[in-house]
Amino acid sequence: MPKLQAPVLKNEYYEVTFEDLTHEGAGVAKVEGFPIFVENALPDERGKIKVIKVKKGFAFGRLIELYETSKNRIEAPCPIYSQCGGCQLQHFSYEGQLNFKKKQVEQVLARIGKLDLNNVKVHPTLGMNDPWNYRNKAQVPIGEREGGLVAGFYQKRSHDIIDMERCLIQQAENDDVVQAVKKICEQYGIRAYNEEKHKGWLRHIMVRYGLVTKEMMVVFVTKTNDFQHKHEIISQITELFPQVKSIVQNINNKRTNVIFGDETKVLWGEEYIYDKIGDVKFAISARSFYQVNPEQTKVLYDKALEYAGLTGEESVIDAYCGIGTISLFLAQKAKKVFGVEVVPEAIEDAKRNAELNGITNAEFAVGEAEAVIPEWNKQGNKADVIVVDPPRKGCDETLLKTILDMKPHRVVYVSCNPGTLARDLNVLEQGGYETIEVQPVDMFPHTTHVECVAHLSLV
Ligand code: SAH
Repeated sequence: MPKLQAPVLKNEYYEVTFEDLTHEGAGVAKVEGFPIFVENALPDERGKIKVIKVKKGFAFGRLIELYETSKNRIEAPCPIYSQCGGCQLQHFSYEGQLNFKKKQVEQVLARIGKLDLNNVKVHPTLGMNDPWNYRNKAQVPIGEREGGLVAGFYQKRSHDIIDMERCLIQQAENDDVVQAVKKICEQYGIRAYNEEKHKGWLRHIMVRYGLVTKEMMVVFVTKTNDFQHKHEIISQITELFPQVKSIVQNINNKRTNVIFGDETKVLWGEEYIYDKIGDVKFAISARSFYQVNPEQTKVLYDKALEYAGLTGEESVIDAYCGIGTISLFLAQKAKKVFGVEVVPEAIEDAKRNAELNGITNAEFAVGEAEAVIPEWNKQGNKADVIVVDPPRKGCDETLLKTILDMKPHRVVYVSCNPGTLARDLNVLEQGGYETIEVQPVDMFPHTTHVECVAHLSLV
């Protein structure tokens, strides 16, 4: 593509109409076809912008004034929305967000996946009835201000911690526990970790909440493995919050942005809390991956199960299975499920979760999906249905080739990144599969993330 000579200049003002939103939630306006990205602007709005940075094929601008506002613009309910950065779409009506997510999926499937939208049905995004207080996990950095502790979030583009009593997308119980733990620690003179000096003790507080069981876990992430006033602090927490079933310490002595260190010890109560998705019960430890929006996870997995079309006779592979969440969901309707996952601890959890539910027709293997599944293929261990749920980078090419060679009747692709989903669907389509439908599911309301499940069938 020929490089566009920028028709706009830095520090100049322009009057523009916004046409679209980027995947990051910024408004897109065009001046002589040249795209300018502007935060806090919505499609169909008109306004004045100042160009703040000009790059080769695009520019960034700042919104100065809106002349016409979108019918989808609303007042962001959160008072710290503009400082935080955790949400990007609170100024957009929920209906507008759901439509935007569907359109984004369609655009990417057509542009990257080269799919014909006349043949592939992209359903309206499945949203939440009440799209607030949905996160079951709070991970809060701790800092100090005038001798006291602050527990909140990093200000946008900085590492200054801003205190936050309420996060509107967080389970209120999690916020209550974080605030109480902060105050209790303050009473005992606990010092927060200071990133620059690499001194102090308390780095993060993490709280997890089981939506169905109401059980809670509190994790202290600390620089060193000591714990002053441990007994007093624990007894205050457990007295105030009887639903706390587990208190854990994780030690992270490194100069790093990574939250957790390698050492984890139970300070009080259980090593796990439990939660349920549908009829399946899961043990969740401090370090296990567990979906953060359990209500929508059920919606997503129900769709995956529907697309898998199981009658009880099928052999199913669940690639990238994590702690076996999808595998155990499928096992209730399949003859046999084989889960594969690269993190050994996750597979330990998956086996424990199978046992916990008395599920005996699920087997789990540790390894890369692209190494283990070709091996199964060679041994003649074929599957009728393959479910994949890869990380953001999508499926490995070897895995896609193996799927084409194994020829399962159906492939169910669960994806947290429409771009790599589209790329991989293109490969599967060229190899003889047809994408029948794609269902976007809103797992993360008020953020730009969108989760999809795609249903493919062998032609
Ligand atoms: N299906 C699970 C987890 C999905 S997240 C759930 O819904 O809870 C994606 C998972 O893929 C992570 O657990 C990650 O550890 C795993 N993973 C990443 N690369 C992998 C690979 N090459 N082979 C197998 N698993 C992999």
